Amino acid sequence: MQRDFSQLLNQKFDMLVCGGGIYGAWTAYDAALRGLKVAIVDKGDWACATSSASSKLIHGGLRYLETFDFKLVKKTLAERHMLLQTAPHRVWPLRFGVPVYKKSRIGLFRLKCGLTLYDFLAGNVPITQKHQHHSKADFIRHFPYLDPNGLIGGFTYFDAQTDDSRFVLELIDGACSAGAVCINYCEATELIEKNGKISDAILHDKINDETLIVEASLVVDTTGRWSSLFQEDKEGYRLTKGIHLIMPKTLGDEALLLTAKSDGRVFFIIPWYGLTLLGTTDTNYDGDIENVPITNEDISYLLSEANQVLKTVNWTEQDIIGKFAGLRVLQQSNNDNPSRISRDWVLKISQNGLLSSIGGKFTSAREDAAVIVDTLCEHLEIHAACQTFGKAFPWLSNIDYQALLDISLAKAQQLGIDKDSALWLVKRHGNRITKVFQLCADNPDLAKRIKPELPFIMADLVFCACHEMVMHLDDLLRRRIPLLILAKITSEELEYLAHITAKILGWDAKKTNEELNRCLQK
Ligand SMILES: Cc1cc2nc3c(=O)[nH]c(=O)nc-3n(C[C@H](O)[C@H](O)[C@H](O)COP(=O)(O)OP(=O)(O)OC[C@H]3O[C@@H](n4cnc5c(N)ncnc54)[C@H](O)[C@@H]3O)c2cc1C
Repeated sequence: MQRDFSQLLNQKFDMLVCGGGIYGAWTAYDAALRGLKVAIVDKGDWACATSSASSKLIHGGLRYLETFDFKLVKKTLAERHMLLQTAPHRVWPLRFGVPVYKKSRIGLFRLKCGLTLYDFLAGNVPITQKHQHHSKADFIRHFPYLDPNGLIGGFTYFDAQTDDSRFVLELIDGACSAGAVCINYCEATELIEKNGKISDAILHDKINDETLIVEASLVVDTTGRWSSLFQEDKEGYRLTKGIHLIMPKTLGDEALLLTAKSDGRVFFIIPWYGLTLLGTTDTNYDGDIENVPITNEDISYLLSEANQVLKTVNWTEQDIIGKFAGLRVLQQSNNDNPSRISRDWVLKISQNGLLSSIGGKFTSAREDAAVIVDTLCEHLEIHAACQTFGKAFPWLSNIDYQALLDISLAKAQQLGIDKDSALWLVKRHGNRITKVFQLCADNPDLAKRIKPELPFIMADLVFCACHEMVMHLDDLLRRRIPLLILAKITSEELEYLAHITAKILGWDAKKTNEELNRCLQK
């Protein structure tokens, strides 16, 4: 997967997709699989905006039952079910505990009804994916770090988890393999109309500072929060901010869904890459969309709420390992409470033919993208059915996942890769793991972890730098491997990693320094 801006030259595309988050990635992949001529560009790196700042859940959204959004929950649960089968390396099961205290906003009976409905909307799933009731003693055995005072029992229920950045990257790679032209760091600066219809876009290559005009039958705007830049109706949506904190390891394999004592909102404590993801907030936002700040208020809200339910820790700001912020794009609504606005997606078709993807969920983006591509096919009068439903993910095709796991664990042991790292390697790379193994076979030093406390090995870093369209150091250290949010990296460590990357990508000292500064500013 290599970046080649010249692929955009002298071509007319059926579809130009502007924005390489999850919506753009699914759209480009779907269209390419249908045999359409597609280009996708992102003004930054793949998934550099909200699609790398999600809660990493592939879920129905239990809390949307409270707002009676049954249609959305059913749709996302169906996608969850499919993704667990088509992408077992990319999407893995995660059970959630929900404690019920004497003073909980939602009592045992209401929660039981909600979870029964959640399971019902999930359809015909195995018993292991249904919710379970737990007595107080049993629940505390599951979650020993929870405050038992006032606890009257709890439930566990089933959902799933992913690495959002790599999910997007895998789809982009799939799109490339299916013939799409995929260019990151390439901004659509202007859309040009001919006879009232958009037909061309001006694209700026930020790596080589070049500009060109690309012709396309249809332009799709999957720019998320930047969408208003292209639209005539600037009032079509609103934004809310959600932040997450990465905290030290607390949980076992199960997550917690909790209710904030201060405002009754739902928040999560989730295991991720062996650490703890704490989030999220949901506050109205009308600030700078390029740089979304994380305020002291955001941080103290999450720490204080978590500390009130966890008895074994008393987290302070010093315990925060990493943090990130994202913006939700929500449909316009008069409701003052952001958490009560629907998260469902809409496709806006402007008079000038521009298709704009507004809002939605990471989990359901595939189905929504299929609607975008269906619209294009209708426009072009092409009969080409969607192929993404039920299709094995690009890095798994033709391979049985259990066999891949077994073979990979045995091979990893021979190469001196520890078991936890090996398990993550399979999730991160799917069937491409053999190439990572080859690097370790050629140089056994690459089998070692980058940081002892994190499950990433040096060969992973080298492989990503070589093959995953890395243009900047933070592409590699934030999205290909999320080291910058999962570890407090010292400047010496950063310099060492920059030095290795520079050798692979042929950066000189000046460029390497620029990249280091860029990382330090993030
Ligand atoms: C805090 C938070 C937690 C969430 N958690 C979950 C969750 O757990 N599960 C779930 O299902 N959903 C979740 N969501 C929702 C989900 O993350 C979003 O729906 C999804 O990521 C939106 O993707 P997108 O592709 O529309 O936008 P984005 O990911 O923001 O992508 C837009 C892209 O467009 C690019 N772009 C902008 N302008 C241009 C231009 N002019 N030219 C080229 N490119 C351009 C940007 O660089 C960016 O990469 C969460 C959202 C938030 C905010």
